[in-house]
Amino acid sequence: MSELEQLSMLIGGKPTGAISGRTFESENPYTGQSWASIPDGGDEDVDAAVNAARAALDGEWGQMTGFARAACLRRLADLISANAERLARLEVNDSGKLYREMLGQLTGLGGWYHYFAGLADKIEGQQIPSPNPNYLVYTRREPVGVVAAITPWNSPLLLMSWKVAPALAAGCTVVIKPSEHAPGSTLGFAELIAQAGIPDGVVNVVTANSGAVGAHLAAHPGVDKVAFTGSTATGRKVAASAAENLNPATLELGGKSPQVVFADADLQAAANGLVAGVFAATGQTCMAGSRLIVHADVHDELVRLVAERASHIQLGDPFGEATEMGPVANKMQYDKVVGYLETARQEGAVVEYGGSSEESLGGYFVKPTVLSVKPTDTVFREEVFGPVLAAVTFTDEDEAIKLANDTPYGLAGAVWTKDVHRAHRVAAKIKAGSIWINAYRVVAPSVPFGGFKASGIGRENGIHAIDAYLENKSVWVELTGGTRDPFTLG
Ligand code: NAD
Repeated sequence: MSELEQLSMLIGGKPTGAISGRTFESENPYTGQSWASIPDGGDEDVDAAVNAARAALDGEWGQMTGFARAACLRRLADLISANAERLARLEVNDSGKLYREMLGQLTGLGGWYHYFAGLADKIEGQQIPSPNPNYLVYTRREPVGVVAAITPWNSPLLLMSWKVAPALAAGCTVVIKPSEHAPGSTLGFAELIAQAGIPDGVVNVVTANSGAVGAHLAAHPGVDKVAFTGSTATGRKVAASAAENLNPATLELGGKSPQVVFADADLQAAANGLVAGVFAATGQTCMAGSRLIVHADVHDELVRLVAERASHIQLGDPFGEATEMGPVANKMQYDKVVGYLETARQEGAVVEYGGSSEESLGGYFVKPTVLSVKPTDTVFREEVFGPVLAAVTFTDEDEAIKLANDTPYGLAGAVWTKDVHRAHRVAAKIKAGSIWINAYRVVAPSVPFGGFKASGIGRENGIHAIDAYLENKSVWVELTGGTRDPFTLG
């Protein structure tokens, strides 16, 4: 127990354990060892955090100007960059993702806070023309209030920041509930809040070894908005809780994103994009480009190129400099991915490369896998959330678009072609929130991200992301000082 890193929740500005005193251990999926002791919070800790967030809204934070909030966000951005190594280490210990990827991601994470700091002092209402000259009418944009931010285990800090940065810029306060599978880095982030000069209670973090505490938070009557990233199944429950309270909800959910490769594409570039789309982060990304829809004339050549690259992917210690793929993040996910590979085999998939776990390394390793399948196969239809690419063929553009859209999801997708007309034409027809043309897996604070269909509601990132954290208030000012007939409408 003494070797475990001891991490604390943050409630009302105080680092704290759970009221019950309970803790749980976070397991490193590479070593299989516990590495941190995490407070196992309960509903009573959520209640305390929501109360603290409400008090902060009614206190100093609620009185701060957008300029002062922007200064806090900028300090927080710089602190994140200065602490990127520690935060990256916490994330790698929790999730087995590559240290070099996490270090890059967290060194750049401050960019989200700088971007939304730039908006914090530009939240403007309007003066609206009134049809009745006796009135001055204007709008005010006010923070929506206390925000519940519930996050998944893949890229916890990035996905948390997509919520917290615009929420703070808007003047909201937040209660964050990270995943029980990767809570460590969010607790590391909480250590920076006071140093950034952010008043007590503005940012609160509650950890728990169960999703039930997330459910309590999502349904809490003291919460004014819910921002959730996770699975579609949980997202539906969160949306129902939010609706019960008549709260707005932003939902970033699952995906099964298509990569459509035409015969004229640069196949080397497409192969590289497929590797980036489904093997980076061991395929555990919501935007994984896991459905390859490739023209029949180039199927064999493209699959050969991807399989060839896959065969050279270096699996191993996430902290190793040469490592390209770490383990799957936890046992539950590992069992799920291995189960999908078994189903694929039973349904007649052709294994072009991989197709099994990699037991020689210990831990939860799965070989990067390339399968040729039928469009009806489970592995082509369901989100695997692992390093598994499922390929089908098409012969004309309409068929490719139909296959791309034949999914309940609509998070992302890619079009690979040298034909500029076709590139834009097909991008317009794929029903998904982000389309990359001859590229994959690029995101930025300034570019909206989110899903069509079962991939979610609302958009994070981009100038309008802040709108989700603001209420609009119309103010009517009578200018004459007179009275009017009280029995007519204005
Ligand atoms: P999950 O839905 O199991 O859990 C997400 C979070 O919700 C966790 O913090 C969990 O504790 C909490 N939770 C669990 N039950 C809850 C409930 N009833 N009410 C409220 N909160 C509850 O998802 P996960 O397994 O952690 O993450 C993987 C999923 O997230 C994948 O489906 C992936 O596609 C999706 N994801 C989406 C995006 C995106 O931006 N669209 C990004 C990353 C991950």
